[in-house]
Amino acid sequence: MWAVDLPMARPYSLAGGRSRYRRLDSTIVRLDTDEGIVGWGEGCPWGSTYEAAFARGVRAGVEELAPTVLGLDPSRIDVVYRAMDRALPGHPYVKSPLDMACWDIASKAAGVPLCDMLGGRTDGRVRLHSSVPSGSVSEIMAEIDIVREQGYSFHSVKVGGDPEGDIDRMKSIDARMADGEELTFDVNRGWLPAQAVAALDATRELRRVVEQPCNDLDQHLQVRRLVHQPLAVDESLVTMRDMLRIIDTDACEVVGLKLSRIGGLTVARRMRDLCMEAGIRMNIEDTGGTGLQASAVVHLAQATPEPLRRATWLCHDRLTRNPVEGGAVTEGGWAVASDEPGIGAHPDEVALGDPVAVFALES
Ligand code: MG
Repeated sequence: MWAVDLPMARPYSLAGGRSRYRRLDSTIVRLDTDEGIVGWGEGCPWGSTYEAAFARGVRAGVEELAPTVLGLDPSRIDVVYRAMDRALPGHPYVKSPLDMACWDIASKAAGVPLCDMLGGRTDGRVRLHSSVPSGSVSEIMAEIDIVREQGYSFHSVKVGGDPEGDIDRMKSIDARMADGEELTFDVNRGWLPAQAVAALDATRELRRVVEQPCNDLDQHLQVRRLVHQPLAVDESLVTMRDMLRIIDTDACEVVGLKLSRIGGLTVARRMRDLCMEAGIRMNIEDTGGTGLQASAVVHLAQATPEPLRRATWLCHDRLTRNPVEGGAVTEGGWAVASDEPGIGAHPDEVALGDPVAVFALES
């Protein structure tokens, strides 16, 4: 297990600047097998304030789970997952890197790219969306100009500051979109229900998807009854019970499937299939990380048909360090899953440095 410091190219803020970020702390794990196949996984919370996850929690969780996982057959993925759930109920984000490494091993053992283990590669490329931090209209447009240069035509703009200011920002940003550009307003839990209703009433003609307006699903459902915009649930989708409740209450048109928040690829695949049945579109991504995490995410997105797959955000574009070779091929605002068996991404162990911990099967 390695701890990996990931500085950002530009500072980032959410919810009107209430949360600020300059670097991420990621955890990369390598699972070795007695057949010589090696699997890689990663867990990288977006700081400690974005949701109920933090980097040292990932490493404590991996340490807690290592004695359970060691000795199991990593290609029996649901068996491994049930063992992890028995050993440590809850804490989905600490299971994601171990689960990712098992999927890497299982698909390498089968000789197929991960997307073919997750339902099969769909045609075409995976559309990416940018992540535009909170700021003034001119700061937001300056960031959009940077990502437009990089090829992005789909933007997730972070609002969720003072609602009056957000109304102006949303109208101004919407008016500055070019033909063919798509836009989400991501509130990141920033509004109270009454503020959300007022802000969405004042901007109802924009018809853009508004993401995670309030702190939790109960508040979200209060808002849902009173507004007309398409809504997305992101931070409030953690467990499979949340997913079932979202479907049962017709809570939204879009969900954010972030691998580590919901417990990794095993759970994401189940939620993906439920969303397909319910007709809910998905942003398939993770909370952060290197090209390893990005490549795993692109495999799941590549195995999910459009239009149910909506967009994918890849964190490593924002970083100044990516100690990983290979994996998903990204070009402008698009990505294609690797053809190699497994995830196809290879962390550079020299660049990773010394592991912070090594766990071995007791003989
Ligand atoms: Mg979001």
